[in-house]
Amino acid sequence: MFYITSPIPYTNSTPHLGHLLEAVFVDTITRFYTRSQTDSVFLSMGVDQHGLKIYEQAQTNGIEPQEFVDHLADNYIKLWEQFEIRYDEFVKTSSPRHRVVAQVVWNKLAKSGHIYKKAYEGLYCKGCEDFYAPSQLTEDKKCPIHNTKPIQMNEENYFFQLSKFSQQIQEFLGSGTIHPSYIAKEQLNFVQEGLQDISISREKSRLPWGVPVPGDDTQVMYVWFEALINYFTAIVNPETIDALVEFPYQLDLHIEQLWKDIQDAMPINVMYISKEIAKFHLVIFIGILKALDLPLPQRALAHGLINDKEGIKFSKSLGNGVSPQEMVELFGVDGTRFLILHEINIDGDTNFNWDNMIESYNSHLANNIGNLVMRVTTLVSKNFDGLIDLESLEEGYKLYDFAQCYNYLDQLNPRKSLDYLLEGARKGNEYLESTKPWSLIKEGDKEKAQKILTQLAVLLKDLSEIISIFMPATGQSIHQIITADVIEKAQPLFCQSGKNRKISPRFL
Ligand SMILES: [Zn+2]
Repeated sequence: MFYITSPIPYTNSTPHLGHLLEAVFVDTITRFYTRSQTDSVFLSMGVDQHGLKIYEQAQTNGIEPQEFVDHLADNYIKLWEQFEIRYDEFVKTSSPRHRVVAQVVWNKLAKSGHIYKKAYEGLYCKGCEDFYAPSQLTEDKKCPIHNTKPIQMNEENYFFQLSKFSQQIQEFLGSGTIHPSYIAKEQLNFVQEGLQDISISREKSRLPWGVPVPGDDTQVMYVWFEALINYFTAIVNPETIDALVEFPYQLDLHIEQLWKDIQDAMPINVMYISKEIAKFHLVIFIGILKALDLPLPQRALAHGLINDKEGIKFSKSLGNGVSPQEMVELFGVDGTRFLILHEINIDGDTNFNWDNMIESYNSHLANNIGNLVMRVTTLVSKNFDGLIDLESLEEGYKLYDFAQCYNYLDQLNPRKSLDYLLEGARKGNEYLESTKPWSLIKEGDKEKAQKILTQLAVLLKDLSEIISIFMPATGQSIHQIITADVIEKAQPLFCQSGKNRKISPRFL
């Protein structure tokens, strides 16, 4: 199995552009590996549904937490449907299925002595659901992310022996598997400062909304620790869980099967995360994997933040964010997928600018690919009754080889891959300009014109196959148009966009 994971959004509100970026990215590389791998490819996605923030928000809204998170999860599922995101498993962390896996993992760690209980005192940020050392706070003693004062908490919690795996975690961080490398470096510095054991439970009386700690009614699992286990939940066979729940008298047998399911699926081949959650995935999760004696991820990729055009982080209170639907209104689903993959940086943060998006859409899609499809199909339908034999193209007459696009995808770089693809369309337009088949037809050399148009039609067919990885519907349309028995003049695939964009006051 070739296992690709997407981080699971914390569902205390509706999906934003950053979530869509993650979904489109993992969907694209999954489509690529599904095509290039003989192994079966598995993509896990899901939602993170526990924790104090969600619990309090549900209370504020006067509804049960389960109802609150179910409703929010639907928003994500609907959006992934709209964007043709093809995942193999969608984990909801409030599901009974996830609870079972989380508890089995907990028991395994406890049995091997990696979990212990101790009294704890510390500064806690509710927004982060995390403890802070005084040195990590801002000058006025606030959380550096939320700019709010953390609360003093004293309680008895369970701890995971993370410090024990410091050496192995450092080896992983230095192994070159993480991209971009500065993220690995940051985490390495953090670990080298001295790794502490981490608290992995909370008092149930204070936070009833979580996965119960097995064998201790007073505690629930810390949301972050439990959310990371979603990468196991996704790959356990549903039958294994059903058997575990239905036939408790054979518990050991079914737990053994559950471990076998997880072992069979590991390692994660591509772990996609954001830099904001690097510590949890590249340090804590690695410690958990080591404690469970499971192999580590083969590649990890961390994306940056999407900021507004001034470089200020998108935030609800500032109202400077961009919603997925705003993008769809202007560019359609495939246009939005393209812009996300081509205009959002892979290595660092991105300052989102509507003008750049409109410019990119028009120049790359409407004026390059769309234009080529329109011109070729118009010439073929008008002058050759739509009849072109793609099979007649002789060896060595292809105008462009798109194979390099696949290599860039294997390097997890959709932007470079798309650039290489766009170059192919540009070459096609240039060839059309320089050979002028319309003039050849006027001069009576229809045979030569037909050869040129056959070359261009083959280029478009090849392009349609690769572009369907990034833009599924567009790929299918171009393929249908160009491989039809009779080629008809195409309808515009991409309309010039942006002219009628209503600028809402908050963007001025
Ligand atoms: Zn915070």
